[in-house]
Amino acid sequence: MLFDSHAHLDDERYDGDRDALIQKIHAEGVSNIMNIGSSLKSSRASLALADKYDFIYASVGVHPSEVGELDDAGMAELEKMAKHPKARAIGEIGLDYHYFEDTDEKMQHKWLRKQLSLAKELDMPVIIHDRESRGECIEELKDMNISNGVMHCFSGSAETAKVLLKMGFHISFTGVLTFKNARRALEALSVIPLERLLIETDSPYMSPEPHRGERNHSGYVKYVAQKVAEVKGIDYDEVVAVTDANAKRLFGIK
Ligand SMILES: [Zn+2]
Repeated sequence: MLFDSHAHLDDERYDGDRDALIQKIHAEGVSNIMNIGSSLKSSRASLALADKYDFIYASVGVHPSEVGELDDAGMAELEKMAKHPKARAIGEIGLDYHYFEDTDEKMQHKWLRKQLSLAKELDMPVIIHDRESRGECIEELKDMNISNGVMHCFSGSAETAKVLLKMGFHISFTGVLTFKNARRALEALSVIPLERLLIETDSPYMSPEPHRGERNHSGYVKYVAQKVAEVKGIDYDEVVAVTDANAKRLFGIK
């Protein structure tokens, strides 16, 4: 069964039809969803969704673009939320040098390190967001000896994928794989063993072809699985089964 390893179903774009949509997605074959925290507020919302639906799990964490909200009290709340039985990862955390609204590089590094320490302390996997950080994100992970986690929405080269694999990381792809300009992502995919691969939607963003530009949702993770099957020359069912097993192993789901 399909496991969407990265969705933001708490996003306001689902406010009009969230519950109906979640039930429809589940009925149509998405057996599990990891809903991602990207701020304190969305981490709370993520846990609320996980409380409501047995097939939804939550990650808690503050995205690099949102770390301006963090302080000691915020870290204490994150730690408390991370101990919730359905919180299965710390994320999404990382570095993002594309947008600097309320943050700068120094702040992003500081709060990334604190959240990585929390993950280590609680022995939880991390979900990493890395955008235009010039390799600094991977350096932080290496410095802190982090090997248990996933690089989400991977957009790097095959060489970078090899570095992450060597560190022990899983690598996750979104619907970007289905875009016409996906050459680099497809090259990276070709060097990643199926056992270390996750699939995700990053919904409501990154809607795959043939729905590019529309609101994304977890049901569209099937298009990512189809593309992986096509590129690797294996059965769709095998991609679905192995990526499901990988996500369950990484997130400690029986
Ligand atoms: Zn995300």
